[in-house]
Amino acid sequence: VSAFATRRSYAELRPYRPDRRPCAVDLSDNTNLWGSPPAALAALREGAGGEARYPAAQADALREALAGYAGVRPEEVVTGCGSDDVLDSALRALAEPGARLAFPWPTFTMIPDFARMNGLKPVPVALRADGQPDAEALLRAAPDLVYLCSPNNPTGLEAEARTVERLLAESGAVLILDEAYAEFAGAGWLGSAPAHPRLLVVRTLSKAFGLAGVRVGYAAGSAALVAEVEKSRGPYKVSTPAETAARAALSPAGLAWVRARVEEARSERAFLGAEAARIPGVEPLSSRANFVLLRLTGGREAAEVAGALRERGVAVRPFAALPGLGEALRVTVGPRPLLESFLDALAEVLR
Ligand code: PMP
Repeated sequence: VSAFATRRSYAELRPYRPDRRPCAVDLSDNTNLWGSPPAALAALREGAGGEARYPAAQADALREALAGYAGVRPEEVVTGCGSDDVLDSALRALAEPGARLAFPWPTFTMIPDFARMNGLKPVPVALRADGQPDAEALLRAAPDLVYLCSPNNPTGLEAEARTVERLLAESGAVLILDEAYAEFAGAGWLGSAPAHPRLLVVRTLSKAFGLAGVRVGYAAGSAALVAEVEKSRGPYKVSTPAETAARAALSPAGLAWVRARVEEARSERAFLGAEAARIPGVEPLSSRANFVLLRLTGGREAAEVAGALRERGVAVRPFAALPGLGEALRVTVGPRPLLESFLDALAEVLR
């Protein structure tokens, strides 16, 4: 018996502790393996000053830069300490404790945890056999909030536009659309979010923008929706150095670097999928993100294969018994030599 009162919904929560032991080839966390925009690194080095004072409470200069990138107005943008923080703030702001958060499963593994952290009931709804979110079943789940990830982590598939449209039209629930990987896919919903009163599109600078360690995420939606998220976000969530680096990443030089790396990631993604498909017992899913999910079809367990890869200096993220998919490895796309090391190691482990 603990000596203090605890929150009942926290009983099933465990702190997230990813395996971050150093590894020569780390393809485990879907960050930008080409690095960070040089413009952002230069701004971090040269932009010191003002650290004794608080940053802007709501990161207004960054909001403006993000609004320009997204094609929306600054009051239609809210920022946070990574998109984790934005998702967490949104779940707290947009539903009462006890409300139901429906989401396709499998998806971003933190979502059921973020739901519980905020007193919401996680309601997973199996993906359809074709990997698409099941709009019908999500609607039947009587959700107060719906979370959709597109392209989806870990499958890499993009949600069809008609699925998003149907959820917006037929449900009174706010739709939180997580587009962490949208730069690697196509246009996405970012710019059109404010036109839909119940759509919040969440993005991050941790993936295509190469700034995972800097911790900047954001969301776009109608000014009314964003204002509610801002209430639960609270002040000072983006530090002064983070705002400096993020603004530089959104400058013309920063964006040019990001766009070039996205192009490279797309072509390396095709290489990784094609080469992995040649290894017996491996079936890659066709991905629109900066990672590829490899189904293990030869009866091997993902955790065991990932362990053997780690002994060969390669880290990937194993998934056990994914509904409809089975055992699988999620592999981040990166520069060719890293992918070649991975492919060699995987072929050896599965031989
Ligand atoms: N959403 C998805 C789908 C993710 O995969 C991740 C990172 N793994 C995040 C959000 C959170 O990223 P960050 O907090 O770094 O923005």
